[in-house]
Amino acid sequence: MRNVAIIGSGPAGLTAAVYAARANLSPLLIEGWQSGGQLTTTTEVENYPGFAKGIMGPELMKEMRGQAERFGTEFLTGDVTAVDFAQRPFTITVDAEQTIHAKTVIIATGASAIQIGLPNEKRLTGHGVSTCATCDGFFFRGKKLIVVGGGDSAMEEATFLTKFATKVSIVHRRDKLRASKIMQDRAMKNEKITFLWNSVVDDILGSDVVTGVRLKNTVTGKTSELACAGVFVAIGHRPNTALFSGQLDMDEKGYICTHAGTATSAPGVFSAGDVQDSTYRQAVTAAGSGCMAAIDAERFLEGMGQH
Ligand code: NAP
Repeated sequence: MRNVAIIGSGPAGLTAAVYAARANLSPLLIEGWQSGGQLTTTTEVENYPGFAKGIMGPELMKEMRGQAERFGTEFLTGDVTAVDFAQRPFTITVDAEQTIHAKTVIIATGASAIQIGLPNEKRLTGHGVSTCATCDGFFFRGKKLIVVGGGDSAMEEATFLTKFATKVSIVHRRDKLRASKIMQDRAMKNEKITFLWNSVVDDILGSDVVTGVRLKNTVTGKTSELACAGVFVAIGHRPNTALFSGQLDMDEKGYICTHAGTATSAPGVFSAGDVQDSTYRQAVTAAGSGCMAAIDAERFLEGMGQH
């Protein structure tokens, strides 16, 4: 029987583990087969406090894992395949074979940026392809960039990127934006932003780093090439919550609803990081909410007279 089981090994899960371990709760952290979360697919992280010279994403996650381990977090590598939050203690099944019982659970399974689905997009991620302008925009000072998408994220990212880039081209598959009027207006008024309508990125070019894209017109089918140093894909995020469907309250997009800090609709189940945050989505905000979740779990156990 575990006091706290944490599902997810990004900044939220690992920070929850540090706090839970230091509160003598002997947490078990279930890390998926691909541990470390979204930061393991980025290169340099320059906006995580405490690293004046920046740190590589995978290195940061290794440090966080080591910190959680140092205070006695136990790690289990495997994918959670089922959960039962209907009764306490809660049940978590890992890789369809191992069953874990826990008095409290912290869900920190994160979100995944939706990708276009091109082989070169995957290969060049971190080498010119990015899904986070806030994280990576700084590296493209004086360069030409492409932003893919027609929603608020694409407008926001493109506008933000004009702080660094000489030119930002928004590639959108239709001739009408999905973004809110105010965000559209802001992008359209920006002299550095141009729109490429009825267009999709058909391929991303470059051997070691991005050098351009091949575009395809969705109306005429014609293809063309455009030189650029970076491609920012902003076509939405998907929270990793399929596993909890029907067991916890979620919003219309599938993000877990939290209240009173990190509490979910199941008392004793807490949630932290991108899986419950469609707004900020930063490593530091995820870490902050992971800390909150551990404190909330500790107080819950105290309230039950179990700690
Ligand atoms: P979104 O609203 O779902 O927009 C996704 C965009 O990507 C759409 O324009 C869509 O095209 C396009 N798209 C989807 N799949 C594509 C594909 N495979 N290839 C090419 N294009 C594709 O997502 P979002 O912009 O990330 O926004 C998500 C939510 O967060 C929204 O509710 C938004 O209002 C909110 N948000 C708010 C702010 C803000 O207010 N500051 C900032 C960011 C996000 P179609 O239009 O053709 O479907």
